Amino acid sequence: MPQEDITAVAHDERYDAQRIESKWYERWQQDPQLYAAERDSTKQKYYVLEMLPYPSGALHMGHVRNYSIGDALARYMWMNGYNVLHPMGWDSFGLPAENAAIANNTPPKDWTLRNIANMKAQMKRLGFAYDWSREVTTCLPDYYRWNQWFFIKLYEKGLAYRKKSRVNWCPRCATVLANEQVVGGHCWRHEDTIVEQRELEQWFLRTTQYSDELLRDLDKLPEWPEKVRTMQRNWIGRSEGALVDFKLDGPAGSFGDKIQVFTTRIDTIYGATSLQLAPHHPLVADFAANNPDLRAKVDQLISEQTKAREVGDIGEIEKHGVNTGRYAVNPFNKSRVPIWVANYILMDYGTGAIMSVPAHDERDFDFAKKYKIETRVVILPAAGDPDETMTEPPLPFTTMDGMVVNSGPFSGVSCQEAIKKMSEYAESHGFGKATVTFRLKDWGISRQRYWGTPIPMLYCEKDGIVPVPESELPVVLPENVEITLSGGSPLGKVSSFVNVTCPKCGGPARRETDTMDTFVDSSWYFYRYTDAQNNAAPFDSETIDYWFPIDQYIGGVEHAILHLIYSRFWTKFMRDMGLVKNDEPVERLFTQGMIIKNGAKMSKSLGNVVSPDDMVERYGADSARMYTLFATSPESELDWQDAGIEGVQRFLSRVYRFVARNAKNSSSERPDTATSRQIQRKLHQTIKRVSDDFQGRWHFNTSVSAIMELVNALYATEDRETSGSRLPSDVMKNVQQNLVLLLAPFAPYLAHELWEMLGERESLLRAAWPKYDPALAKEDEIEIPVQVNGKLRGRIVVPADADESTVKANALADEKVNAYIAGKQVVKIVVVPGKLINIVVR
Ligand SMILES: [Zn+2]
Ligand SMILES: [Zn+2]
Repeated sequence: MPQEDITAVAHDERYDAQRIESKWYERWQQDPQLYAAERDSTKQKYYVLEMLPYPSGALHMGHVRNYSIGDALARYMWMNGYNVLHPMGWDSFGLPAENAAIANNTPPKDWTLRNIANMKAQMKRLGFAYDWSREVTTCLPDYYRWNQWFFIKLYEKGLAYRKKSRVNWCPRCATVLANEQVVGGHCWRHEDTIVEQRELEQWFLRTTQYSDELLRDLDKLPEWPEKVRTMQRNWIGRSEGALVDFKLDGPAGSFGDKIQVFTTRIDTIYGATSLQLAPHHPLVADFAANNPDLRAKVDQLISEQTKAREVGDIGEIEKHGVNTGRYAVNPFNKSRVPIWVANYILMDYGTGAIMSVPAHDERDFDFAKKYKIETRVVILPAAGDPDETMTEPPLPFTTMDGMVVNSGPFSGVSCQEAIKKMSEYAESHGFGKATVTFRLKDWGISRQRYWGTPIPMLYCEKDGIVPVPESELPVVLPENVEITLSGGSPLGKVSSFVNVTCPKCGGPARRETDTMDTFVDSSWYFYRYTDAQNNAAPFDSETIDYWFPIDQYIGGVEHAILHLIYSRFWTKFMRDMGLVKNDEPVERLFTQGMIIKNGAKMSKSLGNVVSPDDMVERYGADSARMYTLFATSPESELDWQDAGIEGVQRFLSRVYRFVARNAKNSSSERPDTATSRQIQRKLHQTIKRVSDDFQGRWHFNTSVSAIMELVNALYATEDRETSGSRLPSDVMKNVQQNLVLLLAPFAPYLAHELWEMLGERESLLRAAWPKYDPALAKEDEIEIPVQVNGKLRGRIVVPADADESTVKANALADEKVNAYIAGKQVVKIVVVPGKLINIVVR
């Protein structure tokens, strides 16, 4: 072979990711319908969705990991004949755009749209198979008008309401934060900023209307990670208990003459020796009105509580209280108990008042010890308990498995029974009842921000709150608004926006200037994907019926609570409106692990950020994608190693070289049937492993290693002398085709290039996923010598992977062996796997 030709071959066999990827990139861009999904009732649908990103400006590797998982799944499902919906969009309202507007003097819209264009180009370059005709951009009026439409529907149903409330306020965001956005007393965006408490009129969505159902339906989601369901259960925080009214002893105030307490242990009520009120309880204001000394002490408690809330866990507060000097009457035993105010009681949990039972509650016990409040034992170990003889257990004695004593007519029954009987008694006597409380609160959605959906409400002096008529939607966010991070809503300063005519009376009205929490945008965006161009409705209900629920949702565990609870709430509300039929939006949920480098979260300040653009430029999109799947299992944390992505690139080079060399001259001069058999076995074992992982644990790292092993085996078939493979041409062709098909979900650019190189005309995207043939995958048979009492008496042939009981049965059934054991008792059979069987007889 002349020298030039050898160079040419060597060049041909070099894996040039940039050349291959730019070639296919161009082709894919020319076919905008490539990944388009249409409703097709003859085909089984599959809706795979990755959480939409916030358009911060550039993708990070965490995004690449998330989308590589979803994209591999989408491609796998297409190859399995499903009608796949795989859309993408932009969660594009929010504070960073306003910060950027101040920092760079750029309008938030311009900044946001530019970022979207940039990130979309990155996604396309990475080869993610999205149906861009369904793109949803939440900051544009064609989307957010439906937020407004839904808000009005919520208002009409009584699910949106306005109330004055104490709110969490981040001074740096200069806005209200939901409870969920307060992390350890700090702003979720500003980890070093302490959240303050302020009183403001706010719009709320009545998420608590669905507390029970949100909790109950978690049982319908077995394909969600258990940790996510647990987080949601805790967040909803259902607790069963009772409400009991204690009558105020002495003059009633403006608040009334009763104090309602919430307790989970009404069975201990005979042991109550004081009441504890939250410092913000309205009755406390009554008591303190003519008592400056008490007022000062209560103010001190308030400031302690505020401080404790600001720094985090209220449960950790050093407990302080003050005796009001007033008494209330226990309705069960008529005993007078002192009323205290305590810094650890919160007004927004339960009723803001508790009965204190020091003998049977840890916290009450500590408090009573500190302030020398009486302790009264009303629960003893249940009869039959080994400690039965004990007259008084060590305090506090908090068991629920005890027996009630010193409790009038309820003495002698179990705690459980007392809870039931006492609740009934309270209800029949009109001073209480069994009840259920939830930790879940209504969702405060008002934000004093510019870059969000305007709340479509008007305030008229005559008519009060008036919704914007539907025909006037959308209420478009005005442009050229001066943005500052303090001084309330920027929209409040735009008089042309604020001053409007009341649609009811024609008089002057004022427009709401708060915008919606951006979690509203992401609560229903995935419905819009099914019908993104609809101008008459948020979507078509029949289309939803076809595509929903989402078959697989993939995203970060940081969205396990808020986004998913709000989305579930929104679905239930839309169902009750008759818009959708599904109870839940997401059938299966997967939360991928984080990407870190050098043991830490990637961040600019640590200088450990790996940029997807750099990786694509250096190694190609296929290597970058495949590395995020190969490095570890997708749910685990991935510690980025440059050597790892280099290894993946080397592997793809090997695949490329092998196919480039063997694609055309695939006939072997000396075909070797044993090698051929071995390669087919390896191939079908690989098909099984990869297919099983897609359907099961999603350990794509093991899928990719399986494909690597197959490629190693293929290299081993090459004859060093002739540089040709020892595989027959039909086997060679088949194994190369299947190798490319197996790679298609993980390295789509390379797979397309090789598919074409193999002379395939059919689109790889819709080519059938390889079929696993168990017969071909089966390990060969092996021969095992059989001894009887240590002497060789025969040989049996069994499958190499046969289990011990099969091997034993075969040995006993063997004709020759049987002659030696007939009429004797088999004492034991020793099996040395794959090597020897010894039957001991007597
Ligand atoms: Zn903040
Ligand atoms: Zn009016």
